[in-house]
Amino acid sequence: MKDSILVINCGSSSLKFAILANAGQTTLVEGIADRLGSSESSITFKYQEKKSIVMLDEGSHKNAVTQVKLWLNAHSDIEHSLMGIGHRVVHGGEAFTKSVLINQEVINGITDCSKFAPLHNPAHAKGIEVAFELFPGLPQVAVFDTAFHQTLAPEQFLYPIPMSFYREHHFRKYGFHGTSYRYISQRLAQISLGSDQQGVLVAHLGNGASTCAINHGQSSDTSMGITPLEGLMMGTRSGSLDPSLISFISHAENISADEALDILSKKSGLLGVSEISNDCRTLEEAMASGDQRAKLALDMFAARTAKHLASVATTLESIDHLVFTGGIGENSSYLRQVICNHLKALNINIDSTLNEKAPRGTEYDITANNSNTTVWIIPTNEELMIALDTISLIQH
Ligand code: AMP
Repeated sequence: MKDSILVINCGSSSLKFAILANAGQTTLVEGIADRLGSSESSITFKYQEKKSIVMLDEGSHKNAVTQVKLWLNAHSDIEHSLMGIGHRVVHGGEAFTKSVLINQEVINGITDCSKFAPLHNPAHAKGIEVAFELFPGLPQVAVFDTAFHQTLAPEQFLYPIPMSFYREHHFRKYGFHGTSYRYISQRLAQISLGSDQQGVLVAHLGNGASTCAINHGQSSDTSMGITPLEGLMMGTRSGSLDPSLISFISHAENISADEALDILSKKSGLLGVSEISNDCRTLEEAMASGDQRAKLALDMFAARTAKHLASVATTLESIDHLVFTGGIGENSSYLRQVICNHLKALNINIDSTLNEKAPRGTEYDITANNSNTTVWIIPTNEELMIALDTISLIQH
């Protein structure tokens, strides 16, 4: 039966993939090719609980997809079950407000958005072209991280800069993690009936992190901007700050504005403040052994996350639900607690015992008795969303 979808997520130097069957409910095989572009790249397949690694002679996206195809040739039952391919695409600009079946016009549109995502969109376009070449006849779908936020009102998405920049260059807030927010919104509506008619706050906290307000099932504000640098403090990204700092840093260090921006993207956030790591788990371990720099970095992360939750909440009529998701949101009881400590004035309270004992990888309600808002942990599932969009567009 043709019921499985190959989900491809092309990064600048990596390619993640998964094949999902049974309406996206079963993962048959998954894996990642990393260090693409270097001489040491490899691709890992995880199949039936076992991992196998293939070194890539030529570390290109094309070679990575070729290896997936070769693996499928050796597992012909899975190959024959494929009905389509779904691609995660970071930036869809204003052109793409929902997922679409890919044709040449769509590939051109994705390439046009490269100016806002120069590391990602060219890699996506490449991945799509290679997939058409290697899987001729299979329909392909693009699912955009920005699409869910195209419902923002102009007073939320415009920057207070001369309007000509928006008119001529489309400089505006786009927002990201949209596929994750759409999944959370739909999943919450299944486990808490009626939540799609209410106000929902979501903190997607991973190595990249953002917040989103969802009003009646539609994104009404989000913390990331024209790029994923705005908003929360992240693993290596500074998040929002006074833009004058770019000029101060470049003068003080005698570097260009682009180099200063690169520091805000790659050497700031948890890594920059802790001077230890960008990884939350590593910092929690360091904090547990008494490292004050790790504690400061984590506490700043929590304070800034709370601030951005409160900020996007201004677009809601009521804050009925708060959802934590992403690697940090799903696993760090410390950060969930500190974030919610900052939200007491909004009558958002969690039960410390429930928060501590929340089982990993499952949906869990951690609301305290005295809270006005229901607080949830919901593991996100972007691959499922991409598979479901792909199935639905192919079948129409
Ligand atoms: P993501 O980008 O969603 O994969 O999330 C990655 C982040 O989640 C990293 O900072 C990890 O350290 C963090 N993370 C994963 N598992 C845990 C855990 N058990 N406790 C704290 N942080 C975690």
